[in-house]
Amino acid sequence: MIPSQLARPYTRFVKIEKNSKRPVEQNWQSTANYAHDDPALQEWMKRGGNVGFLTSSRGIIAIDCDTLEAEKRILELLPPSFTIKSATKGLSHVYLDTDEPFNAKIKDEQGNTLVDVQGPGKQILIPPSRINDQPYTISRKIEIMHVSSHELKSLLNKAFGKQIQKNKKNEPRPLIYESRLIRRVKEKIKISDLLIPLGIDVHKPRTQCPFHPSQSGACLAIDHEKQIWHCFNCQRGGDVITLYKYIRGELK
Ligand SMILES: [Zn+2]
Repeated sequence: MIPSQLARPYTRFVKIEKNSKRPVEQNWQSTANYAHDDPALQEWMKRGGNVGFLTSSRGIIAIDCDTLEAEKRILELLPPSFTIKSATKGLSHVYLDTDEPFNAKIKDEQGNTLVDVQGPGKQILIPPSRINDQPYTISRKIEIMHVSSHELKSLLNKAFGKQIQKNKKNEPRPLIYESRLIRRVKEKIKISDLLIPLGIDVHKPRTQCPFHPSQSGACLAIDHEKQIWHCFNCQRGGDVITLYKYIRGELK
């Protein structure tokens, strides 16, 4: 089973080859990733396949410790948060919820990686994955803590006493990263914000649909709590984003 701390709305998972860290599907960063309860993913795990968490989905990143010394410093530095122990090295992956997910590597003077911050466009193995019969296990069974990316960067800088090297290549933006943006848009813009400028009375339980004339003026139902709408006349409906697309003429 995928740990409950990660099995949440908008988190995404990747099919990984059995006994390996290699993703099975090519487009795992964009389209070939799954919700935790997707039957295809469930079936994959049932057949013994490994599973990776798509880091930065839902704003969750993983701090991957590569040495015992780095792990000690990380565990002292960060607030207690959900942590997984890796199968191969037995070192910690600390999961954090952050506002602006990022990738970073902290290296020693010889260029060996001490800490790898896994953010957009990465995946990291989680239970029930296994490598050489060694399981990934939960070492801190607590909730994922929120730390702002600004605070996290300054904590890492303080602990490791050097600038964090940002990964050079442009960070890819997986689809799910956009889903998080969409979630933010939905928090800010309500259905009534789009309908009021069109002269629609949004306070009536049933009101005029903006897309056609109607005799009753009562074909449009809006659920303000769920932020969904439906017209019983033209059968258009959806959330605030589909409404926007209909108003803009992108949907007919
Ligand atoms: Zn209508």
